[in-house]
Amino acid sequence: MFEDQERTEIEISAEGLRFTNEIKNLGADGIFQCNQCAKCAAACPLVLAGFPFFNKRVIQAILLGTKEKLLSDVSIWACQACNRCTQLCPRDVDPFEIILAVRRAAVQEYALPAMALEGIKSLYDFGHAVYLSEAGNPRKNLGLPEKPPSTLTNPESLQEVRAIMRKTVLINLGIIPMGDTV
Ligand code: SF4
Ligand code: SF4
Repeated sequence: MFEDQERTEIEISAEGLRFTNEIKNLGADGIFQCNQCAKCAAACPLVLAGFPFFNKRVIQAILLGTKEKLLSDVSIWACQACNRCTQLCPRDVDPFEIILAVRRAAVQEYALPAMALEGIKSLYDFGHAVYLSEAGNPRKNLGLPEKPPSTLTNPESLQEVRAIMRKTVLINLGIIPMGDTV
């Protein structure tokens, strides 16, 4: 039955192939195992939010060598790191790791976008890339402690997070302070 179906051949340029391999070498080890089944997309909040690139489409774009369009799209910075895609993927592709590999390539090609800087600063200050100081009241209304059991209530863990971040290039770029401010 499949033999009778019309097939479309897609020619990928040498530059496109280089891009695919570059992403693989930046941490997307499982990318060639993806069969585009879309299970990851079914659970991805980026799909609901209407972003053009989400896990499955990011992988498709990489395999097609669509470099500039993908690396310059804000979608790759909108991933919430929820890891649902990685848990659901039946072929151990680890789509979340592929998103991270694309981000590494985007930083090498361009720079960190302003929206990512805010998240990094918040991570350094609070241990959370997204921190809502007003979230305490809704938590109390639900019978929960005002702050979650995370770096917000564990200064030693926050110190560890900061120590890790200070070992990165972020300190040379002036994105995080040089001294310990805990
Ligand atoms: S990454 Fe996994 S779940 Fe997503 S399309 Fe590929 S094989 Fe399917
Ligand atoms: S980790 Fe990112 S790509 Fe995967 S389901 Fe969550 S938001 Fe989507």
